[in-house]
Amino acid sequence: MIGEDDLVRLEISCELGDLPGNFTLSWGNNIKLWERTEKETEITQTQYTSEQLPETCYVEGYNVSNTIKDTEIKLSYQAPDGVTAMDTVIATVVQLTVEADSEVICAGGDDLGVCRTDVTATIHPAMAGKTINFSISGDKGVDTSRGIIYYDVGSSRGSLNSTTATTNSSGQATVQLTSGADASNPDTYLYFSVAVKASLENVDSDTTWVEYDLPNEELQIFINPETGEPLEYLEADGKSQVLNKLIVSYHNQGIPGHSITWTFRFWDKTTLDSAAGGDFESLSDAQKEAIFATTNPDYEGNGPSDYGELTPLTSITDSSGMATSIYTAGTKVGYIEFQTADNNIDPAKRGSWQWLGKLVRKKGKPRERTNLVVYMGEMPEGVSPPMDMINIKYYLRNCFNFLPDSRFVYAGTKFTTCRENEFNVLNTDRFGFAPGEMGVSFGNAQCFIHYMNIIHNYSTGLDERAGWTAAHEMGHSIASHHGTCVMVSNVTDLPTNCQHFCGICIGKWWALLGGQ
Ligand SMILES: [Zn+2]
Ligand SMILES: [Zn+2]
Repeated sequence: MIGEDDLVRLEISCELGDLPGNFTLSWGNNIKLWERTEKETEITQTQYTSEQLPETCYVEGYNVSNTIKDTEIKLSYQAPDGVTAMDTVIATVVQLTVEADSEVICAGGDDLGVCRTDVTATIHPAMAGKTINFSISGDKGVDTSRGIIYYDVGSSRGSLNSTTATTNSSGQATVQLTSGADASNPDTYLYFSVAVKASLENVDSDTTWVEYDLPNEELQIFINPETGEPLEYLEADGKSQVLNKLIVSYHNQGIPGHSITWTFRFWDKTTLDSAAGGDFESLSDAQKEAIFATTNPDYEGNGPSDYGELTPLTSITDSSGMATSIYTAGTKVGYIEFQTADNNIDPAKRGSWQWLGKLVRKKGKPRERTNLVVYMGEMPEGVSPPMDMINIKYYLRNCFNFLPDSRFVYAGTKFTTCRENEFNVLNTDRFGFAPGEMGVSFGNAQCFIHYMNIIHNYSTGLDERAGWTAAHEMGHSIASHHGTCVMVSNVTDLPTNCQHFCGICIGKWWALLGGQ
């Protein structure tokens, strides 16, 4: 018999003469003998004549050996005259298993721990000095929503740092897998994995799967470049600028070196109003989203254009995983949607199996500057005189001293509904406000002054008291009570240093009016 003593499958040739007598073949119970490699016919016969004895048989490791060389295959011969002979092959049944330290790693192939995993092959029983071959032998895309698996769809499967490694005394050999650009896409329930195969010559092999996940990409837009605070909207003045940030991370680790391409889409206000069949701004968020989804934007690109300009076209994430761009407003008013594409990632896209540049989208609002517009309602009978509406309007206007004349407007007619920059200041004769309150706000359309109560409670400065009170009630649209500001709670008493809005309130008014 010939063979090797440490292989799972080994070939035994039985070269025998034309001997009379009986042969006995015996073998350990952790192996099986087969007539051919195809394993069609298992050999179970143990007693043979020399004619019957198979010339070749194949050994299959069936149960892994506990120790090296613990398995014997014996052929004994007994001649008619009682002479015996024996030949023995010592075998070890070897099993190879392979496992990855991390079953899921971040896609992108970056030089970071999150994009790598060790893959270790282990020989049982342990044997040192064996060469293990490793390869990325395949990939699969699993569509978990449909229960379909697509094989070998990948185009950037990643790489191994070595295709061979030698087992140590524990029977282990390790290589390192780094991910590629292909990625799962949980948004579409598509999961991408690669197969890493380890093999010990032609003896045994095993495969393990490693999934490639998308990094987290958080887009922050419309950031005031000076303060770092997010802006709700930007003045469409052709020069105002906002900062946008994309932060690429995986398990809170920033991923540097990703190339991010920036583009924007812009819907003109007139396009949105016509899609809405009226005032787009008055729609609910869900209604607005439905219109964005079904209305082509007026512009798509980077600019420069009437819709603004986004620079640079491509930026690289820094050590914290952040890439930035600057948007300079155009002169068009409407909604802008920023989108980024991560050029280092290729997430799965629904379809038979497709790949999609990773897009992150977020909307902002370049809008027109608006004026503060106030309608002053009629005063009740019996207060004018002594009160004078011209003076009241003067004192109210003076509370908004930060606004130039062009931005503060008195309206001739009452508003039925008010936009955020529009106010009705009306008389009330309602009692039951907090003690000392000479006014109350129920929203922009219902800012009330209790003119009669002011006359009853004060003897001097009546117009000034009414004007400050009107400004205070309008101010409740942006602020609650606080000191050294028109928003002080007892403003009708005309406390010192409370005739104007404070800096914080002024900032909120400017934001509401679309900037200076
Ligand atoms: Zn108040
Ligand atoms: Zn204030």
